[in-house]
Amino acid sequence: MRAPPSGVGGCMHATFGRSIRKGCVFLDSILPILWPILWPAHCAGCNTLVEEGAGFCRACDVSLVPLGPSCLGCAMPTEAGRLCGGCRNRAFPFARAFAALAYGGALTQALLRFKHGGHRYLAPPLAAYLAPILCEAAGQGVDVICPVPLHPRRLRQRGYNQVLELLRVAGRALPRNSRVHVLRDALSRTIDTPALGHQSPALRGQIVAKAFAVVDHRAVAGKHVLVVDDVMTTGATLAACARTLLAAGASKVMVAALARAI
Ligand SMILES: [Zn+2]
Ligand SMILES: [Zn+2]
Repeated sequence: MRAPPSGVGGCMHATFGRSIRKGCVFLDSILPILWPILWPAHCAGCNTLVEEGAGFCRACDVSLVPLGPSCLGCAMPTEAGRLCGGCRNRAFPFARAFAALAYGGALTQALLRFKHGGHRYLAPPLAAYLAPILCEAAGQGVDVICPVPLHPRRLRQRGYNQVLELLRVAGRALPRNSRVHVLRDALSRTIDTPALGHQSPALRGQIVAKAFAVVDHRAVAGKHVLVVDDVMTTGATLAACARTLLAAGASKVMVAALARAI
C-alpha cells in the first residue's frame, strides 16, 4: 500500500484538530444554555421543578432540620462539646461523632430515592450538607476518610456506594491545602448483613460486629480516620467500622453521618 504524500496526513490531522476545537468551544458556550432546558432541576425530595442550583424546593427545604450543637458521643442535639446524659457512662470506640441533619421529612425521601431509586445524580444536593462536617473534621487532624462499604453483592445490585458518591462531591469542599483524602477501598464489608431497621440496639451491634475488614492496612495504620455513613441510627455500624480500624492500627477514629435518627 502506498503511503500518503508527505504532509498530507499532518494537514488532515491539523484540520481535524481545528474542527474538534471549534466543536468543543461551541459546546462549551451552548451547553450551559441548553442544559437547564433539556434537563431542568428537580427537588431532591419531591421531584418538583426547582430553580437551577436549588437542591430542594421551599416546602422540602423547611423540613430539613440541621442538628446544630450535638453530643460528642452520639451526635444527638445537646450542648456543644459535651456528652449527653446517655453517653456519659458509655464507652465508644470512636473519639467523636458528627451528623448534619435530623433524619426525617424530605431528607428521608431524598435518601430513599438516592439509595434505592437509582437516582445517583442526587449526590450534590445531599453532599452540600455533608461538606461542612468533612471540613470541621479535617480541622481536627483527620488524615483519611473512609465510606462505610457495601457488601459486594449489594454494590452490584445498586451499582454504586451512595456514601462514596456523597464523599466524591463533599470532598471537593475540603481546603486546598488539606492533606485529607478519601480512601474508597480501605474497608470492606465481608458479611451481607440484613436490614437493621427494626432491630434493638444490642442486636444491631451483634449483627454488624464482625461485618467489616480492613483491606489496606498500610493506608490506615497510624492514621486518624473519619468513617462516614449516610444515616446513623444507633451508631452500631459506625462503631463496628471504628473497632475494625483501631484493631488494624488506626491511631484514632471519628465518625460522621449525613443524617441522624433522633
Ligand atoms: Zn420538594
Ligand atoms: Zn450522646
